[in-house]
Parts: sequence; structure tokens; C-alpha cells
Amino acid sequence: MISSYQQISVARAVYGLPFLCLIFIFIGCENDEHNSTAEPQPGTSENIFRPSFTFPTKNRALLDDNGSENFFTPTTKAKTWTSGTFGCVRNSGSRLHEGIDIASIERDQNNEPTDPVCAVFNGVVVHVNRNTATSNFGKYIVLYHNLDGFSFYSLYAHLSKIDQNIQIGAQLHGGKKLGVLGTTANTREKIENWRAHLHFEIGVQINSKFEDWFPTWYKDGKNHHGNWSGLNLLGLDPADILIEDQSKKIDFVERFASEPLLCRVRVYRKKIDYFERYKQLCVNVRTEKEPLAWDISFNFSGVPLRAEAFYGAKNKPRTNYTVLEVDENVYNQHRCSGLLFKRGQKWEFTSKGQRLMNLLIYN
Ligand SMILES: [Zn+2]
Repeated sequence: MISSYQQISVARAVYGLPFLCLIFIFIGCENDEHNSTAEPQPGTSENIFRPSFTFPTKNRALLDDNGSENFFTPTTKAKTWTSGTFGCVRNSGSRLHEGIDIASIERDQNNEPTDPVCAVFNGVVVHVNRNTATSNFGKYIVLYHNLDGFSFYSLYAHLSKIDQNIQIGAQLHGGKKLGVLGTTANTREKIENWRAHLHFEIGVQINSKFEDWFPTWYKDGKNHHGNWSGLNLLGLDPADILIEDQSKKIDFVERFASEPLLCRVRVYRKKIDYFERYKQLCVNVRTEKEPLAWDISFNFSGVPLRAEAFYGAKNKPRTNYTVLEVDENVYNQHRCSGLLFKRGQKWEFTSKGQRLMNLLIYN
């Protein structure tokens, strides 16, 4: 992971120069309340010249040479900054961190963090949780965005304060202030003041009917977060996206096509909610015939990357899905994902993997 940042940083140095002056313009959050909540009009200079993504706080050390140490917050003082990055970085590599932890760089006289947190892209507010007790994200906000027809979310967690005007349905510019960075979480182990950070995610929503699915899987559980629970969100590496977008507009479809595949699974469903929303990720689709199944490729963390329509002559078997293949190299490099295990020569889903599949195919 470290080397991928370094490679991108070299690429940025080569291709990013024309953008330097523009980055300067959007160096931080907009704090002024007069900022309109309307979408900018196509063709305005704002649209043409600014990079697509702004950083979610004023901490932009990620763009500096060797700046990662000042950008990411480690999990303990004994750990390095890499424990605040995306991927298999928690619990000595055995637990997935689905976002990045961005360090606070502004404090008041009581040493409380004051960093403004801002929308990274034009979007709409879809979830606002002001009740710390109901989530390990603490106070958090989810925005939904659309880039060239590709929908994705961004999530801002552990906030100390959410601005009053951040209400569900509000349309925001990238750069619009959302609240203040903090330490809120409902976990037994509190986030200490020195570790105040923004947990930040960019990713995709698995099922738009999560609210209906939840009681089918968790008979006695309580879902406080509608369709925007962390269980229904799968993150990509947001640091990679922020860096790459500085030099080249992100193309999510291209990005999904280049992700290493953990496995391919044949799913016996004619329609899958996720791929109804991501038709650009479907291949081999015939307009005159519905498929018997979809062969779905996943990355290590379970993000469905693509679906190939399967028109077998046979009828649907008893099972809902079968594992077709697993890339053992990808599996061994990302043990934390915990979606599959090998029983003898056969790959099977773990309970976490079964939950993902059950949610994915729910209709
Ligand atoms: Zn985090």
C-alpha cells in the first residue's frame, strides 16, 4: 500500500503540474454560511477548472513528499501512521479498516480539535446521525454523489459537531462545511483527544432495500441508520482516490475494472439490486433474454466489481449461489477480508461472507 502511494506521488509530480494553481484555490473548506446549497451549473468556470474532489479537511499532507505521517492518525502511539490507512491494517493486519483516519491539525486553547469537515464532492445529504450512542461512527454524515452516471457515497465520522443546516435532502457543493472533526463513537474504548481524527470513506451501497433486509438477518437487532448503516456500505481506498483525482479525473468504471479479483461467484438471480443501479458494470447482457444467473466478481473487501450475465440451458439449482473460483494470491495478501475459507479443496463463504451475499441478493 505504501508503495502504491509512492508510485502515485511520482505520477502526480509528472502530470499534476498544470493543476497546482487550481489546488491552491481549493485548499480548504468553505466556512462562509452564504455558500449556496444549489448544484453549480454545467459549463461554469467552477466546474471546468477545479479538481473534482476537494479534501474533507484542511489537512492535505497526503500530497506532500513523506507527508503521510502528518496525514493519517495511527491507532495507538506505538503504531505507525499505516494503521490509519485503508485495508488490512487493524489488529496486526487481521481486521479491515474500510476508510482512512485523517489527523486533526487545528486545536483551540483547550486543545480541542476545531478542524472544519467539508463535502469532498457535489452531492446530496442522505444520512445525518447526531446521536453518538447509536453508532461506532459516533456523529456521522453520509453524502450521495453521482460522477458520470456512477453513484457513490462519502462518509464523515466521529464528528464533534454537525452543522444545523446539514439536513437530509440538502444538495451541497464540494467544499461545503458539514461540521467539526472530533472523537465521538459509541465504542467501549473511547477515542482519546490526541487521536481526534476524521474517519473518512468513499464507496458504494450494497442494497437500496437494506432497511427491509435488516430484520430478516438480525431478528432482534435494531437498525438506527436506515439504508446508510455501515453494514450496507463498502469502501474503496479514499486516499488513492483523493491523490489520483489531483492529476486525472477519477473514472470509477475504469477503477473497478482494474481492481484485483478475490473471487467469482455465480448468483442465481435474474435481477440484483446493486447491478440494477450499476448497469455500467454488467457485461454479456442480451436485451431479448433474461439471464439464468450472474457471474459476479468481487475484490478482497467484497465490493462487487462486475457481473457477467450467464444464460445456461439448465434450470436454476437449489442453491442461491456457488463459488466459481478464488484467486489464492489475492486471498493470501488480504486475510482480513474474512469472506471465504477453504474446506478441503472447496471454497465456502464464512458467516460474514454469507451475510454479504444474502444482503446483495435481497430483493
Ligand atoms: Zn477509521
